[in-house]
Amino acid sequence: MTKILCKNCCHLKMAPYQAPRTGCWHPDHMQTTQKDAWLDEQQVPGNHQQINLRKDCVSFEAAPGKASLWQRFRAFGT
Ligand code: SF4
Repeated sequence: MTKILCKNCCHLKMAPYQAPRTGCWHPDHMQTTQKDAWLDEQQVPGNHQQINLRKDCVSFEAAPGKASLWQRFRAFGT
């Protein structure tokens, strides 16, 4: 059986660059959510280590792969 790793999931966001707090930002696993965008700072993500303790999280979605060096060069030129 394949182990699910949070580091390969698109819902794991790390502070400070991707999100204000490190954790699982999947809507079903959030501890606190807010409807309004101006209250984003009050949102609390779920504890990804606790949720995926047995490495079998059903909410896993693969993060998009990093573009190759050639693809990044081409995107820079356009
Ligand atoms: S707990 Fe599940 S949904 Fe959250 S980051 Fe880990 S694998 Fe993804």
